[in-house]
Amino acid sequence: MDNSLKIILGIETSCDETAVAVVREDGKILSNLILSQLKEHEAFGGVVPEIAARTHMEHIDKLIKGALDDAGVSFSNLDAIAATSGPGLIGGVMVGMMAGKAIAAAHKLPFIGVNHLEGHALTARLTDQVQFPYLVLLVSGGHTQILVAENVGQYKRWGTTLDDALGECFDKSAKLMGLPYPGGPNLEKMAANCQNPAQALKKFPLPTPLKGRDGCDFSFSGLKTAVRNHVEKLPEGDLTREDIADLAYSFQITVGKILQDRCHNAIQKFLSTYSKNCEIPTLVVCGGVAANSHIRDILESLTKQANMDFMAPPMTLCSDNGAMIAWVGLEKLKHDMLDTLDIAARPRWPLDPTAEKRPGGGVKA
Ligand code: AMP
Ligand code: MG
Repeated sequence: MDNSLKIILGIETSCDETAVAVVREDGKILSNLILSQLKEHEAFGGVVPEIAARTHMEHIDKLIKGALDDAGVSFSNLDAIAATSGPGLIGGVMVGMMAGKAIAAAHKLPFIGVNHLEGHALTARLTDQVQFPYLVLLVSGGHTQILVAENVGQYKRWGTTLDDALGECFDKSAKLMGLPYPGGPNLEKMAANCQNPAQALKKFPLPTPLKGRDGCDFSFSGLKTAVRNHVEKLPEGDLTREDIADLAYSFQITVGKILQDRCHNAIQKFLSTYSKNCEIPTLVVCGGVAANSHIRDILESLTKQANMDFMAPPMTLCSDNGAMIAWVGLEKLKHDMLDTLDIAARPRWPLDPTAEKRPGGGVKA
């Protein structure tokens, strides 16, 4: 073990993954354990907050021990503890944060409360040392945002969803199609079964909300409603496998068009605002939906046209994980951005507190 490099334990419990990792300051992930609660929530077709919190509570201790064992370290080798302190489901956030604080107090280690969104946004620095400033498309189950990462703790939010998050729209649409939870990956698999793409698009046309408008905001609830209307128009019990594949295909193509349009605007704004400040302009995609191959392809060709680099973290680091939380901890430790043990769990915690409030009740911070 190289003792000159700092190492941090990272804890993530903001949604339905109990995740703990040990990461070293040179970016080496010494351990990375993720326990997904798919079975616990499957019957409900979505994450149930109370069940999530209880499940985190059941597993957190053994995951922390497992992550230390896998990394071959003990508490005395750690330089700090980082835990997600928001935004997220408050019961779950509290479980991870209290565990982290208890370890920090008992072992007299610094504690760092991490913004979950910053974990996603900085993953590209853990994996690829991307330099600030860079453009971020964050697409997950709870959030859909376009951000500029200017520095650690310093973000500009250029776009957000006015209603549903993209992952949520994938999951709800998949549910309407009768696909099992989690909907996103299952919908992608079904779309790959579409036999006649041109016909599928004609049979199931879908709207592209906000496409062609200025700005970088998103809206997905109309898309979900259009999926519902298509399903309801079909004779009852008559949603064939072919229909589902066609509808899933049309849905995925439509999402691609929306992202292409919104990201095009963001790229133009980024290049005109930041080109002097960065050697290689880069777009980073992160969050669970970034696992979708069609979306990755769309973004890759968009960045190619704009002479930008494109970065998508490996699949295991796209969805929620402890390594990204430990990494933010390491970045904040370097900047001496430590927290005291009275830091509170936050259900909402915008990365850019100055961002203009958007209309619509369901705006995600
Ligand atoms: P996260 O909120 O970052 O944990 O990511 C979970 C979200 O990503 C859920 O809404 C999933 O349905 C979605 N997701 C995961 N894989 C895919 C995929 N291949 N295509 C679309 N959405 C996905
Ligand atoms: Mg998750």
